[in-house]
Amino acid sequence: MTRDPASVPSLPSDHERELTRAVSLLRGAGSVLLLAHNHPDADSLGSAIALGLALRARGARAWVSFDHPDEVPQSLSGLPGIDLVTPAADWLDGSRSTELDLIVTLDAGSTERLGRLSSLFDGSTPVLVIDHHISNTYFGDDHLVAPDVDATVVLIEELLAALDVALDGDLAALLYAGLATDTGGFRHGSAASHRLAARLMDAGVQPSRLMRPITEGHPFGWMQMLSQVLGRSELDPAAAGGRGLVHTCVTTEDLRGLRQEEADSVIDILRTSSEAAAAAVVKQSGPADWQVSLRSRDGVRVGDAAIALGGGGHPEAAGFGWQGDYHGAVAALIAALGPAVN
Ligand code: MN
Repeated sequence: MTRDPASVPSLPSDHERELTRAVSLLRGAGSVLLLAHNHPDADSLGSAIALGLALRARGARAWVSFDHPDEVPQSLSGLPGIDLVTPAADWLDGSRSTELDLIVTLDAGSTERLGRLSSLFDGSTPVLVIDHHISNTYFGDDHLVAPDVDATVVLIEELLAALDVALDGDLAALLYAGLATDTGGFRHGSAASHRLAARLMDAGVQPSRLMRPITEGHPFGWMQMLSQVLGRSELDPAAAGGRGLVHTCVTTEDLRGLRQEEADSVIDILRTSSEAAAAAVVKQSGPADWQVSLRSRDGVRVGDAAIALGGGGHPEAAGFGWQGDYHGAVAALIAALGPAVN
């Protein structure tokens, strides 16, 4: 006897199961700590604050924190709900962590991205991991991880709907900021992301007013730093299988008087080189410590190279840490990107 396929109840997908589990954890928690990753971007911090505001609206207590740096990045300091952010030091001494029913991490692919705050994952408080990095290591206890969505805020919108929290202007702004940032101003956004953007605008977001301080708010010193850093950039047309790599470094000397976050925008300029499908900015964070930001297009997968070098990210936007010097980092990257062509 054959079965009529329509009579078989459809099983929930892995994603639906993860969503249901996350909603039940969030509904059951009276006090929640929401963690963004080090050097938080609009996706991580926007996700954490939006979920925090939603939990507070439901009567729970909620706080946001991240380990490094000590202050909210200047470009994100105008986001609504920024007062939910508490210093990492408040949680690191252990005295407050007993208050918590649940810890949620937002947009962090590994515990390394959470710095010292990952010391809170000692088994005493359940940890829910919400993320969209394909390199997610599945640390923690429960997961809402979807590498096919453009940003973590996409998952937060699903959670807000499931928690019956209506999108107000503040929540919509937080989600829009994360979505716009992670899609490169929607250039890399899926159709679903564009539809979400439209819903967020219907909820009151004014994109140009919201995004200007996030994407264009550079101090004048950034201009001089850029001229030095771009002036020393190098093009290696043979790298990445002949599709080309453009790279430069940002030293601590270049950043004197500037915030570390000013180094993060260099990659967005370097990646516009038409001769290179891959771009790398090697940023110094200590005498021999470097963080390498990677972008690519046209089928070059910098994400694979980043994972091979101990980092992570997305196929076309990724990063890894390096100990040594700039040229050592570039040599390792070129090797990881695969054989050159002559
Ligand atoms: Mn993200």
